[in-house]
Amino acid sequence: MERYIIIHYGEIALKGGNRSFFENKLIANIKLALIDLGEIWFKQVSGRIIVLMEENYDWELIKAKLQKVFGIEYFALAWNSSQDLKELEKDLYALVKSKKFIKFRVTARRTNKNFPLKSQEIAEKLGAMVVKKMKKKVDLENFDLNCYVDIVENFAFLYFEKIECRGGLPVGVSDKLLCLISGGIDSPVAANLMQKRGASIVYIHFDSYPSTPKENQEKVKDLVKVLNEYQFKSRLYIVPFLEIQKEILQKAPEDYRVVFYRRMMLRIAKMIAQKENILALVTGESLGQVASQTVENIRAISEATPLPILRPLIGFNKEEIVNLAREIGTFELSAQPFGDCCSLYVPKHPVTRADLNLILDTEKDWDFDRILEKAISKTEIINFNSEI
Ligand code: ATP
Ligand code: MG
Repeated sequence: MERYIIIHYGEIALKGGNRSFFENKLIANIKLALIDLGEIWFKQVSGRIIVLMEENYDWELIKAKLQKVFGIEYFALAWNSSQDLKELEKDLYALVKSKKFIKFRVTARRTNKNFPLKSQEIAEKLGAMVVKKMKKKVDLENFDLNCYVDIVENFAFLYFEKIECRGGLPVGVSDKLLCLISGGIDSPVAANLMQKRGASIVYIHFDSYPSTPKENQEKVKDLVKVLNEYQFKSRLYIVPFLEIQKEILQKAPEDYRVVFYRRMMLRIAKMIAQKENILALVTGESLGQVASQTVENIRAISEATPLPILRPLIGFNKEEIVNLAREIGTFELSAQPFGDCCSLYVPKHPVTRADLNLILDTEKDWDFDRILEKAISKTEIINFNSEI
């Protein structure tokens, strides 16, 4: 029996006129995820994508890669039997006879209406065979083994385990976004949640080297590398931030430092967004998590840019964010204790109710063009590909 990977997609199947655009993107992303396998054989059949599972493929590796492709609801490793009841019985028996189970069920689905038995009848016949030959019990609710049978086009698939994925939309079907990524836990999770909605992410990091260690930069690169496994091609801008911070130290009231840092970050982000044709920013803010994340401070910070700022974590608890970071694969990296730019010169009592008038008054005679142009001219660009 030949084996296939059956890939089911959910939400994208609902997209009406855009359906083929979404499907093509999903197929392109599956190919990129499985690029190490070389040329793969695949086919679209009745709202599924099937990939031929060659003998030499490493299933564990494929599993790990496909779980990172957004748009997939679930996938399974399936054996292709034949659309003949006797053959189906024979093949199913061959597959289950060495399995350990007490109670089981058969879940059949028929999309090829030329097959003479209805789904329910297929399940009953195959179930009866297993009961008779193996003395096992059918239990539709509490079972140890579920035998799936899909009769689709000219295939007859048998499988036992569905591998659930995170759903969402294929990366690339939504517009590009620019994510402000720190070395912390939150912003990589925010980026990943927007990838899940089909956005491809460009990253910008503000770095205070040499006052922060080189390791901090490496950590951000490593984080983007992990996030690139969901996206296959990414770009990271590393902007030197120390000189800007030093100017702020001289010119701004101490308790407002972080607010001014953030406003400068947003101004630089806007310039990079323009260059990249990006219309919105992403941050990892969560309401009330730290002093700079009160509603008043969020307003005072956001005022520095006309671009919309998407904050997918705004209503998340820290524990929920940590759990997601673990699932995504960024937690261990983020948890490394290297200080970033925001741990420098942090005031003892940061303002929680920033006064916008005071901010605008303070910034009145800053020479932004000079400060920003200088930072941009020293910005480093790093590209990531799935091949490397
Ligand atoms: P994170 O865990 O993402 O660092 P945080 O809880 O530490 O977030 P803040 O330090 O207030 O929160 O930062 C809020 C957001 O500002 C971050 O989620 C990130 O999007 C952005 N940000 C902060 N520092 C940097 C930086 N050095 N470079 C780029 N973006 C940053
Ligand atoms: Mg942080």
